[in-house]
Amino acid sequence: MSSEADSAPRKQKFVFNCTRCGTCCAKRGPIPLVMSDLIMWAKNNVVANMMPYLKFLKTPQGTVDLVLARKDQDPYAFLQQDKKDKKKKKEEDLSCPLFNKEKKECLIYSNRPLSCRTYPLEYDGSKFMVVNADECPGIGNGEMTKEAKLEMRDLAKRMNKELTEMRIAMPILSQAFQPFILQELMEAQQKFMEELEKMPPEERERIEKEMMKQQMKK
Ligand code: SF4
Ligand code: SF4
Repeated sequence: MSSEADSAPRKQKFVFNCTRCGTCCAKRGPIPLVMSDLIMWAKNNVVANMMPYLKFLKTPQGTVDLVLARKDQDPYAFLQQDKKDKKKKKEEDLSCPLFNKEKKECLIYSNRPLSCRTYPLEYDGSKFMVVNADECPGIGNGEMTKEAKLEMRDLAKRMNKELTEMRIAMPILSQAFQPFILQELMEAQQKFMEELEKMPPEERERIEKEMMKQQMKK
């Protein structure tokens, strides 16, 4: 659920101080990523930790997002349930893969994505919105300085800008990568076949049988 808060941050009605309750991390579903998240992870040498949880998600607008989602999580479940199966939505685990449910802690807090830093404030290009206002106890909590509000607004605007750029770049990158990946795969297959030819017949037979088994499983 979202409510317009365009004027709230400017009129200083919007007050937010995260209580670290973890509700958002337990329910948000796939977390959209932007280029600065990837650059931050590369600089901090933590990309390998995130790799198992990177997925692509086609949005209802037809754009493609790179998201953080659990290995066993179908990122589309989030969108489908939103539309048709509210009951199932309650049962589906939409927690972030990097959320420690027992301790209610983010496992990558200092490396958390930009989207998590702006939450629950979003900017859609023309106005600010507070998302899931009824589920976040941080909204209306305590005091907030003008500087903190401005900083949060800037982050929300940055997220909107970077996500838009990412959505423009993704289809171009994916088209540019396809021939490259295909070429890489063909070269790898060629190399593998050459290695296979050099093997003793028994070893070759064993590997071929194993490959057949793997094919059958698919
Ligand atoms: S739901 Fe709100 S208060 Fe709780 S962790 Fe998320 S942002 Fe912080
Ligand atoms: S990355 Fe951290 S802050 Fe962001 S949703 Fe996951 S657990 Fe929460």
